[in-house]
Amino acid sequence: MSRTLHPAVFLDRDDTLIANAELPDEAFAGRWGDLADPAHVALLPGVHDSCLALRRAGFALVVITNQGSVARGGATIAEVEATNARVAELLPDPDRPDRPGSSLIERTYFCPYHPLGVVEPFNVEHPWRKPQPGMILAAVDDLCLDLASSWMVGDAERDIEAGRRAGIEPARCIRVGVDGELPDLAAATARILRSR
Ligand SMILES: [Mg+2]
Repeated sequence: MSRTLHPAVFLDRDDTLIANAELPDEAFAGRWGDLADPAHVALLPGVHDSCLALRRAGFALVVITNQGSVARGGATIAEVEATNARVAELLPDPDRPDRPGSSLIERTYFCPYHPLGVVEPFNVEHPWRKPQPGMILAAVDDLCLDLASSWMVGDAERDIEAGRRAGIEPARCIRVGVDGELPDLAAATARILRSR
């Protein structure tokens, strides 16, 4: 049986889709910089429109996010999952009125491991932890994705490195944000859609 391969845009979560940098300090109390409270989830400007445009252009949207605060004792798996679910909930797919609650986000992968953590069994290095490409490679396999026509967008160098190590062309790995080549996901989306 042949499988149809789909292009994807792999998206970092924190400071790519949602605003971590602008949140009050109490959102991160004891959490090592990872947001793990659904009540504090807020999309960055233009993120919904960007995700909708990419989805309508045929891309699967896959979130890949390091959540090492689990290993460090700052969050539970359940809190991370609830936070990820809130992100997906804030990105509803208006093209699927037949499926209420369906999200523009196809799937979210997160890595709870960190080698400096204290919570077993997560206190070890793991092939899913960016800059390693494990989450991307798992998604490619799970969702029948075509790496050659896929993109990676994130605000940190480890996001870009994970994309490259997975085998995505360097020109298709876009760093956004204050240290990025483009300011935000909206600008990255414009580049992706122009290149088609
Ligand atoms: Mg980030």
